[in-house]
Amino acid sequence: MKRKATITVETERLVVISGSHAAAATLWCEACQAEVTMLGLDEASTLAGLSHRTIFQLAETGAIHFIETAEGKTMFCVRSLRQQTETRTTRLLNEERKD
Ligand SMILES: [Zn+2]
Repeated sequence: MKRKATITVETERLVVISGSHAAAATLWCEACQAEVTMLGLDEASTLAGLSHRTIFQLAETGAIHFIETAEGKTMFCVRSLRQQTETRTTRLLNEERKD
């Protein structure tokens, strides 16, 4: 069965996930205490503009929320990913202002 899902998040970026590789779901995030969109690694990486390695590092520190599904797949919380991109942008702007 072919499946196509389009996920729109509140950002300039639009992530379109299609085919059997689709990796997005609405799941309960313990850290947010809310149902959020959770993305697979590739999609999370694309959305946040971060490497897979960085995503995992931030997840380990708790900066990015994640869960493991019953299939053993890691899914990342869109809310925390967006906070990362905002924090990063703010930091970059502040660093520029210092000079
Ligand atoms: Zn979360």
